[in-house]
Amino acid sequence: MATNVVFLGAPGAGKGTQAQILQQQYGYRQLSTGDILRENHKAGTPLGKAAEAYMQRGDLVPDDLIIKMVRDALPPSGVGIIFDGFPLTIPQAQALDEMLGEMKRGLPQAVYFSIDLGAAKMRLATRGREDDNAQTIHHRFEIFESQRDALKRYYADEAPSRFTEIDADRPLEDVTQRLLRALKLRPSPGVAS
Ligand code: AMP
Repeated sequence: MATNVVFLGAPGAGKGTQAQILQQQYGYRQLSTGDILRENHKAGTPLGKAAEAYMQRGDLVPDDLIIKMVRDALPPSGVGIIFDGFPLTIPQAQALDEMLGEMKRGLPQAVYFSIDLGAAKMRLATRGREDDNAQTIHHRFEIFESQRDALKRYYADEAPSRFTEIDADRPLEDVTQRLLRALKLRPSPGVAS
């Protein structure tokens, strides 16, 4: 059965970039809650409107909205999903386990991308997204730091053999290699070894 993977780590740690690589070269499906929220915002849906103010402040969108959104976005079983930007809270992590259980999928594998927070803030500041202004960035990191330890513990305790911490300060290719090892995947020809 395809593995489902949870990507944990600070904003700017490179989770989205690595998720894209796994999607393009390894058949995973990236499920980025931030991307889905931005698409909803652009399309002017009720969800996009409800989430807008939270996103502009860098606040968490309420758990019930996010959990329903993820439930609706789950691809059919058989496709390995990379959860990018989800869960960000313990209730979200619990809801994810429940959803995967209902779908007869096992517990997810968790990868924590560890990065120097100063470096991560710099990355965001140069990325230029609408919510990448100084105040919002500061708040996003506050929230990240407030949830980080509890989330890491949740996954490390739940299934220690399925929890991996990766040094995301390293060059992108090194991080990909480390990720492939953690997920027990062979490097594809497109990935430099
Ligand atoms: P991201 O693209 O992951 O940086 O997320 C952008 C924004 O979307 C965040 O600052 C939050 O406002 C919101 N968001 C994304 N994922 C979540 C989540 N799992 N829970 C709550 N809010 C989220």
